[in-house]
Amino acid sequence: MIYCVEDERNIRELLVYTLETTGFTARGFEDGRALWAALKQETPELILLDIMLPGEDGYGILQKLKTSNSTSDIPVIMVTAKEAEFDKVRGLEGGADDYITKPFGMMEFVARVKAVLRRSSRQNENKELRCGDLSIHVARHEVRAEGRKIELTRKEFEMLQYLMENKGLVLTRDQILCHVWGYDFDGETRTVDVHIRTLRQKLGNTGNMVETVRGVGYRIGE
Ligand code: CA
Repeated sequence: MIYCVEDERNIRELLVYTLETTGFTARGFEDGRALWAALKQETPELILLDIMLPGEDGYGILQKLKTSNSTSDIPVIMVTAKEAEFDKVRGLEGGADDYITKPFGMMEFVARVKAVLRRSSRQNENKELRCGDLSIHVARHEVRAEGRKIELTRKEFEMLQYLMENKGLVLTRDQILCHVWGYDFDGETRTVDVHIRTLRQKLGNTGNMVETVRGVGYRIGE
């Protein structure tokens, strides 16, 4: 899940749309207040942060994010308008991971998002994701259900990891296909259903946490 804090509606919608068509899940927020409310519910993988915002500005938000224990590990990319003077040093010293200058091309934007996520996932290699009695250790490629070790194929593991990173959210078959098999995968969304079925079987009782949301996709929740 990627958060985009941007008060200009057109840009915000374009960012969210671009991320979603690239296989990410994304949400847009028009100001800091909306962001703080959402952060109480979930932790995104990355925050794109505009600087000139109504109310609290991007520098102030960045400082708060980096000084709070619950949010200091979330990578941040500052999004700046070309005409406004962006203080690169202030942003990067404030803990931002990168910055993008508006207007930017969508290819460049996606490449930068991916680069920052790659760096942060290397830092988080030891992270463990949990959902009820189910846990996965990403770097060790290890899955435990009710304390028992479970053997999964690579695709099943990546699918489970994707669901757990977006716990509580519905992921469409297309999003799963795009994220796990890749954007140019020439397959059918039925591939996802088949893998979900075997994943559930292997997970035993905890497989019930993988819910089918009729007509939409799948979600994992406790
Ligand atoms: Ca702005």
